[in-house]
Order: sequence, then structure tokens, then C-alpha cells
Amino acid sequence: MTTLAVPERLPRTDPRLDAIRAKVAAGERLSLEDGELLYTTPDIWTVCELADSVRRRLHGDIAYYNINRHLNYSNVCALSCKFCEFYRKKDEEGAYTRDMAYVREEVAKAVEGGATEIHSVGGLHPYLPFSYYIDLVRTIKETARELGSDLHVKAFTAVEVVHLAKIAKVYKNDDRKAGIRWVLHELKQVGLGSLPGGGAEVFDDRVHDEAFKGKIRSDVWLDVHRVAHELGLNTNATILYGHIEERRERLVHMDMLRRVQDEALAGARQPDGDTAKQGRSAAFQALIPLPFFPDGSELEHLPGPAGLENLRTLAVARLMVDNIPHMKAFWIMQTLAMAQLMLQCGANDVDGTVVWYDITKVGGASTHQEVTVPRLQRAIREAGFEPVERDTLYRRVKRDGQSWSVIDS
Ligand code: SF4
Repeated sequence: MTTLAVPERLPRTDPRLDAIRAKVAAGERLSLEDGELLYTTPDIWTVCELADSVRRRLHGDIAYYNINRHLNYSNVCALSCKFCEFYRKKDEEGAYTRDMAYVREEVAKAVEGGATEIHSVGGLHPYLPFSYYIDLVRTIKETARELGSDLHVKAFTAVEVVHLAKIAKVYKNDDRKAGIRWVLHELKQVGLGSLPGGGAEVFDDRVHDEAFKGKIRSDVWLDVHRVAHELGLNTNATILYGHIEERRERLVHMDMLRRVQDEALAGARQPDGDTAKQGRSAAFQALIPLPFFPDGSELEHLPGPAGLENLRTLAVARLMVDNIPHMKAFWIMQTLAMAQLMLQCGANDVDGTVVWYDITKVGGASTHQEVTVPRLQRAIREAGFEPVERDTLYRRVKRDGQSWSVIDS
């Protein structure tokens, strides 16, 4: 069980943060020890203020949202991760696997609703062939095109990508990147545009073995994202916090992410003779801190993180991970009210108008979780920022009636 140190009560202002303030102002990378102080100081509002200074340096007064639709193609999963309430076994009540007629209907609804993105993930289905996933991406793209829309397909976590390599029988332990590359290349050919950031959980072997044994470990997760970047596919990253991990392990997770981002950015700047890196121009776009929700999981006895821990983790992530441009306050899991606070503590994106999110829900919420654009915009304005609609690649979206286009900057 997590043993989180309770911050001392006083003083409310902490002079120990002065050195970190100087580093942040100079754009210097923070150490893991700096991160520990950010987590344990009672002066949480200075931590938030420092994160806000980084966020304003990068994005000014802008806060992004997008119009998207989630499509979970199946909740059948071969694994049984302890923190997961999403998965079902094949014949269990509530198990589903969507066919292409269903997918076409969902895409039509997405296009009608003005979505610029379909976000599609699922469990590790033990029986679906690789061709199903090719059909899925192709069907989304083709249906949208027929309806006059160039929907972006963001799909398959790193965990699913490795599963697909295994069912396509191209995954080899002694050269795993080759199989991953083959899968991503095939999916990209039919229209995959980017990868979401799920499945990362916490990059620590102890936590892995205790809470999600059977899932890929950190080295494999990071390799999937490295290969995606090499192929020109942007990706997101997540951290699932507040279960059995310690804060130090969260900080190590953040450090590992920023190191892989260093590699991606270096590869994008200087093609260097390594054919795997040449022409690489993709990287992590956003980091999404995800609080653990105990209800319905095997870890139901744990309390899960509360509001201030969520704010602090977002702020610490903004300060530690200095090279991923966007920090997302994922309102679906944080609530829209909390997302407003997070915008003032380092976040610059509240995600989208998401429909049908059933991976993890805020305290018993229905799976139909949707906010209207005016409501998202109002929440952003109330928080003191200018709402800007983005597409998946963080380009501004321009709307003209039912049609939309992006403005390349
Ligand atoms: S977290 Fe993912 S891999 Fe684990 S049981 Fe849930 S759906 Fe399956």
C-alpha cells in the first residue's frame, strides 16, 4: 500500500523552494531530489505557481480542447490487471466486441458531431486476428472520408501494439522493435495517425509485478513509443498514480519519459546516419497524469488520490518533464471543476468533448460522458484562459459551418 508522507503543517511558504525557482527561471532540468521536495513541501501553492510559470512560458494564456469521440472496440482482455474495472472475459456478462457496422455508425456520429479525432483502444482480445485491427482503422478512415471528413485516428496503446505483434506472429523477444515496427507500419499504411499514452501505469518493476503482472514492462512500453516516433507517429504518455506506488517511483517514471523525449527531439533535429532515426520528426506530444480509481478494481481497499494530490502531481509533472510540450487535465477522470484548477497548476489542455468513455469513470459516473463545446469553453474562460480548439496534432482548428480545417503554424 502507498505510504505517502504527510506534508508538515507549517510554514506555508518554504524557502527551500528558492533554489528550484532559480532553476525553473533559468530553464534548467530538475533533479529527482528536487522532485521529492516538490512533493513533500507544505507550500503546494508555490509548486503550482512554478508549474504555472512554465505553462505560461510555453503556451501563454491559451488552453486547448478538442472535439473527439472514443470508440472502445472491445473490452475482452486476456489479462486481469488489479487496478482495471474495464476488462471482461470473453463470455462474461457485459463483454462486447464491435463489428464494422457498429464502427461505421460511430464514425458517422463522430463526423456529424464535428469531431476531428477518433480515439480507439480496447482490451487484449485473445481471439481477434490481426486483420480485424487493420479493418478497424481502414473502416474509420474510409467512412469518415465518404462523409467528407479527414478524421484523425489515434489508436492502440503500447500494450495493444505488442499484443498485435504477437497475434501477427512477428514479435521476437530478441528483436522486439522489428515486430513493433512491422505492426505500426501496417497500421500507419491504412490510416493510423498517432498513439495514445495508455498502458504506461508506473515504470517500476515492483509495482508492475504487484499490480499489473503480465502487461508489458517499462522498457517495452518505451520501445513502442521510440519506434512510433521513428516512423513519424506522434504519441502521448500517461502515468497512473495513487495506488501501490511511492512518489519516488512516480518521479523516476517522469525522468524516464523525459529521457526518451530527449532522444526523440535529438533524432528530429539531427538525422545522423542511423537509418532508424533518419527523418524522425515525431515525439511525445502530451503527458496525461491519471489518478487511480479504486472502485470496482481488485485494489478497491485503497483510498485513491484526493484533490490536492492530483493538483500537486500535475504541477510536479509540468516541472519535471520539461521537454513534453503539453500537460493534460483529463476532465473525464478529474472532473471539469478540477480541470479548471489544474489549468492554473501547469495544465494547458482539457482534452475533448469525449463520448462514451468506459475505461475509468469518476465515482460511478455513467459511461456516456460528454460535455458540449460551449461548456468546455466556459470552463476554460472561467479559469482565466483563452479556449482554443486543436486537432490531435495541436494545430488550431478553423470551423466554417459543418466543415473544419486546420491552421498549420
Ligand atoms: S488494464 Fe488493459 S491489459 Fe490490463 S486488464 Fe484492463 S484492459 Fe486488460
